[in-house]
Amino acid sequence: MSLHKLTFPIRAYWDLPEDFEGPVDPMSVSSEMVRCGILSLDLWEPAVSIRPRTLEIARRFIESNRAVSLTVASAALKTSLVTSLSGLGLSTLLVQARSLGEIGGLAGRITALETAAGKLGISFQVNPENIGDLPRVLTRLVDCGVSLLVLPIERPDAGNQVHSFENADHEGLAEQLRQIDYRSVQVIAHDPFLWAALYPDAALSPGGCQAGCGLIHIKPDYSVYPCPILPVCLGNLADHSLKQIVSSSEMKRVKEILGELPETCAGCPKSPNCHGGCRGRAYVVRGSLKERDPACRL
Ligand code: SF4
Repeated sequence: MSLHKLTFPIRAYWDLPEDFEGPVDPMSVSSEMVRCGILSLDLWEPAVSIRPRTLEIARRFIESNRAVSLTVASAALKTSLVTSLSGLGLSTLLVQARSLGEIGGLAGRITALETAAGKLGISFQVNPENIGDLPRVLTRLVDCGVSLLVLPIERPDAGNQVHSFENADHEGLAEQLRQIDYRSVQVIAHDPFLWAALYPDAALSPGGCQAGCGLIHIKPDYSVYPCPILPVCLGNLADHSLKQIVSSSEMKRVKEILGELPETCAGCPKSPNCHGGCRGRAYVVRGSLKERDPACRL
């Protein structure tokens, strides 16, 4: 079934707040997400050690047979981390690395811990400055025996710039990647053009951008967005339930526009799968939901 026909997203990205005290009860939010049919939850823990409330949120999903991936800061990678997660049933534990240098220190420690906490890997947020490091990142992971690399969806807030192949050398990157054998590393990339550079022989999943249809993003202040890279606020959980926000006229407007092919993509043979590429990046760079992904070079 096309994700554009879903009435409620099935995946949620939740960047947890630094402080759980406040007007919104995170456990109520968790329960509502489970009730509404979120099947897969990606939690980002900002604290340097996993908090009991974070474990409680994860447990609520896991006990309802939902998949939970947890991303933690590199400072949280200690033996006690694996102990506290043991038996929880996470599908994936990811440790954040922000630079090639940081990955060097983390990779060996991750493989030493690869036991009790589910699948372990590294989450590496690409940006205009570090996108060129990707081949060396992969080489480092292969050498250290790390088997999972996630390139998370970019967060363009707080002054972060999104990367675009307009300002990175697409062909050069693709050529460098072709020189490396990284089949031992599973790479998860949500960016369709980065995916094409990483896996030039694999077909892109059909349907294009899933913002709002297949996924939603909850920020630490409980504001809700169609996707981490798409800064169109749909509402705040302090004021409305998740169900109200997902059923709102603003969400319908966004989904309708994203369901249409950008005019400049008309006639493109790749459009059934690509459908305009990353429309969040288009919105950030070009200021419109109707524009195609600036990473497209056609
Ligand atoms: S023109 Fe570019 S962005 Fe549009 S569908 Fe084709 S490949 Fe995708």
